[in-house]
Amino acid sequence: MAQQSNQEPKQAPPCPICGKQAAAEHRPFCSKRCADVDLHRWMKGAYVIGGEAVDDESASWPADEMFGVAPKH
Ligand SMILES: [Zn+2]
Repeated sequence: MAQQSNQEPKQAPPCPICGKQAAAEHRPFCSKRCADVDLHRWMKGAYVIGGEAVDDESASWPADEMFGVAPKH
């Protein structure tokens, strides 16, 4: 994120993950690796926003305490 736009703007936009020039076969990313990184980020985001596909993991979450559903005082 430090460097910006010293490259020709005619080219495809740089890889949003690492800023390298995107490769045609992996557009808009420069490589499959960056595409995967973005995919994982996206999935994580969807996870949080959707909040429905978390059945298994929610077991280890202190959700009840966080929401303070049942005050036991
Ligand atoms: Zn990249």
